[in-house]
Amino acid sequence: MYFVKLLASLLFLLLMVPSSESFTQGTPIHQQLFDSYDQFKESSINHRRFKHTSLIPLLERVKHRFPVKKVGQSIEGRSLFLVKIGNGPKKVLLWSQMHGDEPTATMAIMDLFNFFYDQKTFVAFKESMLEELSLYFIPMLNPDGAERYQRRNAIGVDLNRDALRLQNPESRTLKNIRDSLDADWGFNLHDQSKYYGAGNSGKNAAISFLAPAYNPEKDINTVRGNAMKLIVDMNAVLQQYIPGQIARYSDEFEPRAFGDNIQKWGTSTILIESGGLAGDPEKQELRKLHFVTLLTAFQSIATKSYDALPLAGYDDIPFNDYDAFHDLIIREATLMKNGKPYIVDIAFRQYETDFVGHNDFFFRSAIRDIGDLHTFSGHAELDAEGFQIIPAKLYPKTLASVRQFKGLDPIALLRQGYGYFKIKKTPTTALTDQLPFRFLGKEEQPNISIAPGQNPSLFLEKDGTLHYAIVNGFLHDLNKDAATIVGDLEKL
Ligand SMILES: [Zn+2]
Repeated sequence: MYFVKLLASLLFLLLMVPSSESFTQGTPIHQQLFDSYDQFKESSINHRRFKHTSLIPLLERVKHRFPVKKVGQSIEGRSLFLVKIGNGPKKVLLWSQMHGDEPTATMAIMDLFNFFYDQKTFVAFKESMLEELSLYFIPMLNPDGAERYQRRNAIGVDLNRDALRLQNPESRTLKNIRDSLDADWGFNLHDQSKYYGAGNSGKNAAISFLAPAYNPEKDINTVRGNAMKLIVDMNAVLQQYIPGQIARYSDEFEPRAFGDNIQKWGTSTILIESGGLAGDPEKQELRKLHFVTLLTAFQSIATKSYDALPLAGYDDIPFNDYDAFHDLIIREATLMKNGKPYIVDIAFRQYETDFVGHNDFFFRSAIRDIGDLHTFSGHAELDAEGFQIIPAKLYPKTLASVRQFKGLDPIALLRQGYGYFKIKKTPTTALTDQLPFRFLGKEEQPNISIAPGQNPSLFLEKDGTLHYAIVNGFLHDLNKDAATIVGDLEKL
């Protein structure tokens, strides 16, 4: 009994420890933030196509503890907000989603609001940081673009080319806030293509940085130099979590862009671009890494620890290798044409296609390239040496329903090379885009054209057996994945 009591009081003590610093001494702060992230993650947002209306209740809550000011509105009248956290002398301005379909950092900012709102954890860390810093956030600068999940605003303008002409209310808001604060630091938060490589590492760029140039000569003054040093610091943290997957943008001066101009106007500006991570289609892991890296950057600014880092560290970060990746590459498969064999690599891209309302999407894939693709990498790859490419066949009978299809032993039909099925009432695309079957309406014909821009269903055959299916740009191993396929069919 005494033992149980002792155990209970020990447990009580453990639970009562007020801040994570106390029981994780020696653990770097970035690791502590990473480990405790889940308690700060804003759970009402968990996919990328959230809208301005999703932010409103979150900002209402933030208001209870921090000033939230309406500082402008979009062309269609959606409010632009500025949130201020901290009262320190160094002013840090962050703006996200200037491009409507680049929402990763907006999600991370909502998590940061929860982090600062909470008064029980990381108390000392936050207090010392906020004595030095005033953090200003403009989340979702382009809400009209977010509504349509598109880059541009409601009149089709790329706001990041409007820093000089300032024709759009969203651009004017950003410029006004920057000028009125005369911010010391600026974070320009974007998403980039998931097809960029990190140099020639063979890894894709999950996160890319840039300390934008402020003139065509790409000179380095103190303002820009500080941004470079802070990037060196952030890179060191991120390397712990996504080694080799951090890159940087080329620093050609773009006279119309905000990053370049804000650097020119005297604010040390850091561009952060969220790319892609395999297995993270909604970028929730990247959102978490944003949370960690922004907080460690704030700490670096507050303590000035970035200042001791060498500028040369910036040049050690590899450049983005644009267009280095595909979603799927089938390597060295045999393509037969007029009885002759040709060895080819085939690369597919899986394109996100929005449903009406832009709340969700399905994949519509296509062949992007054919030939010697050994200089490209795939998010998924298959060594298909010795395998022959066989286009999928159309099942000869038109079926009445999905139910009838499921009664046919679909896996057995796949193994016989049937990939296309005519069904009177085809199932919704949302459930079929990653299946190895294509369901056709009455008038549709199977796509068996192996060419760039086409989306054929293919099998890979060896020794008279079909081993793999490639359908809508997704690879299925007919031996290993059969149970998964049957499971997915259940959902139809
Ligand atoms: Zn962007």
